[in-house]
Amino acid sequence: MRPCGLTPVKGNWLKPSPLQHTAAMPCGGCEAYAWCRGNCMKNLYLGYVKNDLRYRAGVVEPICGLLRFIGREVDRHDPQAWFARLPLPQRRQVTDCEVYEYVEVMP
Ligand code: SF4
Repeated sequence: MRPCGLTPVKGNWLKPSPLQHTAAMPCGGCEAYAWCRGNCMKNLYLGYVKNDLRYRAGVVEPICGLLRFIGREVDRHDPQAWFARLPLPQRRQVTDCEVYEYVEVMP
């Protein structure tokens, strides 16, 4: 026992997660990848590694379609133009807030 009461780590016994991107997943050519980044790895794993076609068609593909739709809708409303129209104090509020540096879309 060390004086601080902590036991040192002796080894990493954790197995590598099976939830990793593979070539079987459709994310590489996906228009949503910039904001999605293959976010729901559990769904992708079940749909494309475990090859659960029912789950893929009923869950994974609708979610991916929704993410692509959201991206197109955001672009269609031109958020840069919206931002440019804001009064300076509100623009500063947006740019100075760390929360706005990362947005996670969870359908
Ligand atoms: S929307 Fe689907 S296919 Fe596209 S990057 Fe996200 S998880 Fe991958």
